Amino acid sequence: MNLKQLLHHFTKELIEIYDEQEIISIFNIIVEHISGFNRSQLMLNGGAEVEEVKYNTYLQALDRLKTGEPPQYVIGDTIFYGLTFKVNPAVLIPRPETEELVDWIIERCNSASLKRGSLLDIGTGSGCIAISLKKNLGPDFKVSAIDVSEGALATATENALLNNAQVNFIHADILSYSSNEKYDLIVSNPPYITMEEQKEMHHNVLENEPHLALFVSDEKPLIFYEAIAEFALSNLNSNGLLCFEINEYLGEETMQMLIDKSFINIELRKDMQGKDRMIICSHPN
Ligand code: GLN
Repeated sequence: MNLKQLLHHFTKELIEIYDEQEIISIFNIIVEHISGFNRSQLMLNGGAEVEEVKYNTYLQALDRLKTGEPPQYVIGDTIFYGLTFKVNPAVLIPRPETEELVDWIIERCNSASLKRGSLLDIGTGSGCIAISLKKNLGPDFKVSAIDVSEGALATATENALLNNAQVNFIHADILSYSSNEKYDLIVSNPPYITMEEQKEMHHNVLENEPHLALFVSDEKPLIFYEAIAEFALSNLNSNGLLCFEINEYLGEETMQMLIDKSFINIELRKDMQGKDRMIICSHPN
């Protein structure tokens, strides 16, 4: 069987869960992972025979994809902010919206000429925010990251090594965490999807990604935001920034909560899809 025929087979097997364009993109990343061909090499090598040993690897990948398992978990890694991150079901697959938040934070630090300082990422998951900020803000930034999940911390630790980034990882639950450490930046993409919204989620996400990283109760959708804001009130330096990824439907409520806690310079930004997605604000003094 050659690669073109293999793509045909993938399409036939996956067409119930993905559209044709998605299957082509998934196929491309699977081929890159298994045979090492990038997209243009793949076009040139479409007629190349798939080696016997690799053929089985392709079929195993296809079996996992057929269950709806995200391709990033099947391959075991993904790209975020130009860096490679290992991913597995203990961590959320980094989303492009989160890259936009990282971009905004870097922009803010650059425009304030903030070249040294300390940063805490709360609920780090794969470590994508902490590690991409460490790589981009430079060696004079001390970066720490906390997560309640040991599986996530193990993955994040591996990702820090993989990317040669020094990050101090802390195993803790932000709902009960306190420390005397002061930070210039506190960043978080906490769980924010309500049970109500869960019903509208794609079942591939629902059945495969960690619920601990995604969901909050309908009664207290801002529980993590409130706890993190409280923590930031006591642990941010004056002029320090609190940076959040937020639920697109809770922009107003999240801003109001920050106003009530006296944060200042509260700025909300939309993501590429025009949805309220991130907030940066400053410590009141
Ligand atoms: N944006 C993610 C999603 O839509 C959720 C991230 C989060 O809950 N923090 O799946």
